[in-house]
Amino acid sequence: MVAKLADNSNSQFSFEIKKKVGGALGRAGVIHTPHGDILTPAFMVVGTKAEVKFMTPEDLRSVNAQAMLSNGYHLRKKSAEIAEAGGLASYSGWNGPTLTDSGGFQVMSLGSGLGKVVSMERKKAVTNTAHKERLAKVSDKGVDFIDPFDGELDFIGPEESMEIQCKIGADIHMAFDELTSLADDYDYNVAALKRTEEWAARSLSSHLMHRDELGYRQSLYGVLQGGRWEDLRRSTARVLGKMTVGGTAFDGFGLGGAFLKEDLGEILRWCDEELPEEKPKHLLGLSRPDDIFVGTEMGADTFDCVAPTREARHGKIYTAHGDINLRKFMDSPEALDAYCDCPTCKAGYTRGQLRALWKSGDVQLKQKYYNLASMHNVRFIVRLTEQIRQSIMDGKFYQFRDTFLKNYYG
Ligand SMILES: [Zn+2]
Repeated sequence: MVAKLADNSNSQFSFEIKKKVGGALGRAGVIHTPHGDILTPAFMVVGTKAEVKFMTPEDLRSVNAQAMLSNGYHLRKKSAEIAEAGGLASYSGWNGPTLTDSGGFQVMSLGSGLGKVVSMERKKAVTNTAHKERLAKVSDKGVDFIDPFDGELDFIGPEESMEIQCKIGADIHMAFDELTSLADDYDYNVAALKRTEEWAARSLSSHLMHRDELGYRQSLYGVLQGGRWEDLRRSTARVLGKMTVGGTAFDGFGLGGAFLKEDLGEILRWCDEELPEEKPKHLLGLSRPDDIFVGTEMGADTFDCVAPTREARHGKIYTAHGDINLRKFMDSPEALDAYCDCPTCKAGYTRGQLRALWKSGDVQLKQKYYNLASMHNVRFIVRLTEQIRQSIMDGKFYQFRDTFLKNYYG
């Protein structure tokens, strides 16, 4: 253990900034990981249980996905099996860069009832909280919770989360943090943030003991909370930005929280102005195009969200001129999106054909729809991040943003 702690270098993981957005915090870069490079800004496809729903690893490569995010909470009971298979990349068959979140969000949302969404309505968030039966209890030690699947009592704290994540063996891990909800007040956020910072130190310490166990160096991001308060956001960014254990700092940072849409840019700016510029940052759980533009401008390098695949399964198809619902396109000969280069569009599927598959009573045809629609939506967001990257490299980020958003939102 001492030898590992003395080895502070992380030669298998690094971040290079290739070009900055003039006058802003945004940048295009490359994250080097033990399982390959991620050109940033990048969207990480969510495969909660080590598998993206209705997409094979081959499908992911065909839409140019660069990285997959899986979930420490959902995979916790499989972690030994995944370690045995050599880690998440080989276990999943994806064989590319991967990230896991700590599981904190899932266990805590059992208690708060809040999804990590940009909620437009504060009042709605408050109401939701009140109506959700509480299945999780947060203490300084960690989170006691009732597993909603088997009804058994369970516990996850920073040490448990690191042990689980280091067995799963993604290239990038997230420190265990306490997510607060939009309904929590300032005083609660102060207390929660103190816990998150203590948990960050314990996460880093535990991570250092386990990070090499699968034969490659796994990396850890510290996660920033602090609600919508500037003093909290800035102070925690300074604390986590400088935090070291045995001379080792975080490899990057996760930007967390339940955000009101209108606050997002401001909050990210507060965080990123204080964090070390040379470290990569991941914005947790958001993928709406306007959020990706704001996130990129404010220095976020990677993004993830279940929305592109989940919304595809519900008939929502992304297009350059805004999202459409296939329900309205019976027999339509129109292309899904005239500008799309995904395998579904290249094969010539029309809106009407996809709608017919979706509404089919035949399970196999329905599953085919899920696959075709998921590939399209994931490609849409992946391509958006590729185009944003190119616009930064060309010094045309703002022009591209304005044109894209005007077409998309009308
Ligand atoms: Zn397409």
